[in-house]
This record gives sequence, C-alpha cells and structure tokens, in this order.
Amino acid sequence: MSTVEGSPMDKLLSALAFAAHKHSNQRRKNSRQSPFINHPIAVAHALAHIGKIEDTIILQAAVLHDVLEDTDASPADLVERFGYEVCTLVKEVTDDKTLPSHERRERQIERAQAASPGAKQIFIADKICNLHDVSLTEPPDWPAERKVKYILWADRVVDACRGCNPALEAWFDKAFAKRRTIFL
Ligand code: ZN
Repeated sequence: MSTVEGSPMDKLLSALAFAAHKHSNQRRKNSRQSPFINHPIAVAHALAHIGKIEDTIILQAAVLHDVLEDTDASPADLVERFGYEVCTLVKEVTDDKTLPSHERRERQIERAQAASPGAKQIFIADKICNLHDVSLTEPPDWPAERKVKYILWADRVVDACRGCNPALEAWFDKAFAKRRTIFL
C-alpha cells in the first residue's frame, strides 16, 4: 500500500507499521531482550517530544532509520511507499554494514558532518536513545571499556551535528554528562 499520499498521521503510522513488520523478529541487545521496534519509536518520540519536530518526513525517517541497515527493506521499497525525501533521509543515517565496525563509526562521523539538518537531528536523537540504553548493567555483555568507547564516539557524532537543534543537543549533553560521571 503506497502512502506517499495521505494525512500526516496516516503517513507516520504507515511508516511505523512498515518498520514494525520489518523488525518483527529482532531484539535489542539489553537484558530484557526488548523488541527492536521500541528503539525507532523512542528515536521518533525524542524528536517530537524533546526536539519539537513536527515535520512528518523527519518523523517517518526516524521510525524507518534502521530498516535499510538491519532488514531486507530496499531504498526502492521506501521510495515507493514513502517517497523520495523519506528514502533520502533514511539513507543519510544508514551505515555501510560491509565495513568493519571501527571504520563504520569513523564514516558515520564524516557523514553526520555533511548531513542535512533532518538527518543531523535523527543522528542526535538516535544517540540520546542509545546512551539511555547504556548503564552499569546494560547491555549485559558489554565490558566497561566497550561502553566507554561507545559513549565517547556518540559524543563525536553529536559534535558533528551541532547547530541544528539546541534542545536535542542539550538533552544529549545531559545524558552524556551523567554517563561520564559513571564511566570516566
Ligand atoms: Zn538507531
């Protein structure tokens, strides 16, 4: 069902239904093994609630932000269902999974720097949510060193995005400062 046409609510819920379907067999790496879809929902919610984003295209891209990276969905699927702009935004925040993880992380910083304002805001919301998922006990199989590396890298990605949404940036800074006192 193509939803390139429709009300903003229709478009957003269609994107959510598509993402939920595509991620339906995936779990997050936490001890509760939360359904994966909780993550894109949290990212879209952070954009709307903290970042005050009302742009349907950005919110659709937020709920879809991991479908190209982690599912069999293709850019053509996204263009057909949600239009070219949503697809372009999702592609901007999609990592090349064929690269080794260190290189992938460095590339993400470079891409974040050159990204559109919409993509930058999705990057920041993503890092806010991911930082919230890192604690002394979560993810359970991550040694402290890996958590420290992750937190410092997330801060570099957000630095590459600064200037697009002060409220999101301030929220990230608070989350970062809290983890800094725990781990560094
Ligand atoms: Zn994500």
